[in-house]
Amino acid sequence: MRDVTSTWTEPQNTPLALLLLGQGTDPASERGVDCPGDLPAPSDPGLVARARAAKEALGSRVFVLGHHYQRDEVIQFADVTGDSFKLAQQAAARPEAEFIVFCGVHFMAESADILTGKDQRVILPDLAAGCSMADMAVLGQVETAWEHFQDLGITDQIVPVTYMNSSADIKGFVGRNSGVVCTSSNAKRALDWSFEQGSKVFFLPDQHLGRNTAVLEMGFDLDDCVLYDPHKPKGGLTDEQLRDARMILWRGHCSVHGRFTLDSVREVRERVPGVNVLVHPECRHEVVRAADYVGSTEYIIKALEAAPAGSSWAVGTELNLVRRLALAHPDKQIMFLDRAVCYCSTMNRIDLPHLVWALEELVAGRVPNVITVDEKTAHEARVALDQMLALP
Ligand code: SF4
Repeated sequence: MRDVTSTWTEPQNTPLALLLLGQGTDPASERGVDCPGDLPAPSDPGLVARARAAKEALGSRVFVLGHHYQRDEVIQFADVTGDSFKLAQQAAARPEAEFIVFCGVHFMAESADILTGKDQRVILPDLAAGCSMADMAVLGQVETAWEHFQDLGITDQIVPVTYMNSSADIKGFVGRNSGVVCTSSNAKRALDWSFEQGSKVFFLPDQHLGRNTAVLEMGFDLDDCVLYDPHKPKGGLTDEQLRDARMILWRGHCSVHGRFTLDSVREVRERVPGVNVLVHPECRHEVVRAADYVGSTEYIIKALEAAPAGSSWAVGTELNLVRRLALAHPDKQIMFLDRAVCYCSTMNRIDLPHLVWALEELVAGRVPNVITVDEKTAHEARVALDQMLALP
């Protein structure tokens, strides 16, 4: 068996990534993200012991969830790891846990709050851990678009579909308009169901997942898809374009997966003969087309587990996960698809000091950073989530 751990090469840092990862500060752009209370210093050598002690003191009262894109220093304290939907389901399966500490981002904690019991409280260790994609679809903008579709008389043909990576508000909008939530694993099934209910889909907020699923898995033409830009009057589209479209894609994207380009694919193929290119469907259409394999985070994990020893893989997803997979499979050559750093900077807000702080607050009888979704929104979002669970 060939040991290739020594071949793992860290992508190069970029000045922007360094800043976002907290190795510098920009008070002008980071106002209002301070954590209340005293955070332990990141250099505190006792952080691991403090996290362990606080977790032990809380016992089964606390359940810690760790998203796959999370840092290793945090993942080591997760009771379960997974993608956003799996984690929300895992939280719902632990009714005895009073506190769910969600090491992920804001929309994931909202989904966990929707799916868990009234007595359970979901805690996000840093409230600044948002998701740039979810933030690209704001309820007011989506309602303005819907009103425009109503004026055109096309809403009875449209089924709204939102990716799990959206705020509870947007899931609620989709629920009250008879739509469905989807994940990157079941997007095709969600679209199949939607096209049985209507002739058009309004897909939020990730244009790439919507386009890639419609074109590459369902045989649509690119011309069947239009891009609704919330920052332009009427979405930047003519009435005719909206009437003719089958997929109305919201102009949103993931700032991590959106970084991979066709050049990244070409470059790695030249550099590593025989390499398999494996990417997430949140990547741009041309990247997904040029890849050998495409699938959700769970698909990527399973594909690499099943890959033969000695095979080479360039993986287009978040860097923490790719590095962890490379180190877990030393018999395979697993590398990052891009040459530069590509962390999810908001996910990385949840670091060990924030986790220690949240756990120690709980031990002290204080409950920090609780994420709650109001009852009406939670009910409507649950309708759209239940519709997803009922997909054939
Ligand atoms: S990886 Fe992309 S979609 Fe996922 S939390 Fe980060 S910004 Fe949002």
